[in-house]
Amino acid sequence: MALKITSDCVSCGACEPVCPNSAISPGDDVYVIDPDKCTECYGWHAEQQCASVCPTDACLEDPDHKETKEDLLAKFQRLNPGKEPEETDKWQPLGRSA
Ligand code: SF4
Ligand code: SF4
Repeated sequence: MALKITSDCVSCGACEPVCPNSAISPGDDVYVIDPDKCTECYGWHAEQQCASVCPTDACLEDPDHKETKEDLLAKFQRLNPGKEPEETDKWQPLGRSA
């Protein structure tokens, strides 16, 4: 499932540049993740980069956007045509929900 940013976000901006899918942008109050672009980093990294850098643990799984690995792979391929997915054997879901 895509990740979402909770009200614990302090708008430090650390997550925006580390997202491989350019899914994160500043919002009115907190940063926001576009669920159509978030692959939970599937296809790019073994771990969710935004959650790794967030100082307040504000990046969590969004229960309203449940997706299988196959869904995430399809999204990755749509967003990155022709790119081979990487680290899929090491990828793990975040395991923390909003
Ligand atoms: S989990 Fe990965 S793809 Fe999704 S918003 Fe965070 S950094 Fe971007
Ligand atoms: S890293 Fe965390 S606190 Fe900083 S902008 Fe992103 S979600 Fe907000």
